[in-house]
Amino acid sequence: TIYAADLKRMFDEIATAIEADKDRLCRLDGVIGDADHGIAMALGFGAVRDALASLDLSAVEPTALLNGAAKSFLNAVGASSGPLYATAFMRAAAAVKGKGTLTDAELIALFQAMAQGIKDRGKAEPGEKTMIDAWQPAAEAAGAAQAAGKTLSESLAAALAAAESGAEATKDMVATKGRSARLGERSLGHMDPGAASALTVIAAMTKALA
Ligand code: ADP
Ligand code: MG
Ligand code: MG
Repeated sequence: TIYAADLKRMFDEIATAIEADKDRLCRLDGVIGDADHGIAMALGFGAVRDALASLDLSAVEPTALLNGAAKSFLNAVGASSGPLYATAFMRAAAAVKGKGTLTDAELIALFQAMAQGIKDRGKAEPGEKTMIDAWQPAAEAAGAAQAAGKTLSESLAAALAAAESGAEATKDMVATKGRSARLGERSLGHMDPGAASALTVIAAMTKALA
């Protein structure tokens, strides 16, 4: 069973991991973007962590916690990753509406709702060199593992492995969405920063919840 406190712990874990990864993410964004991705993500998840710190976890439901995270992230981040992750958390909130605690299957559904939210908000398809190249295969792998009767740990591990190959594969893609699309062929050979941070986020989620 997953409680609101577990989701808070998950956001704390993500904030710590992103903060530690901030410089690398800025460097990656410096190559094909505007070098602010690490700062944007650290601001966003730092704001979420601060907002959740004052919540009464015995009273708050997962959906309210996730909507709070969405609002904090959106308010803190001016870059494109702001609305993308805010939508992910809003969709996650909608996916667990009315539930006091979550089953493993509901947690996987929440994870899939995040990926779908990013996809809907950014209108990116796989292969366009964005964070969706990590999120979509991760969501698919998690769903497939869950459907095959795997445990939550195993399903999240499958998601992480898929995110890892997905992020790696962005090196061979030409960007057609977001800021780096302006570079065209010159974006080849470099990992997409949003896919790289997605991997960090998913790894932290896996660590916190598995
Ligand atoms: P900005 O480009 O506004 O500075 P960030 O640096 O925070 O924003 O984020 C850049 C990342 O956002 C990219 O590496 C890419 O993964 C992701 N991204 C940009 N546009 C889209 C989109 N339309 N759909 C999905 N992801 C996107
Ligand atoms: Mg940027
Ligand atoms: Mg920017």
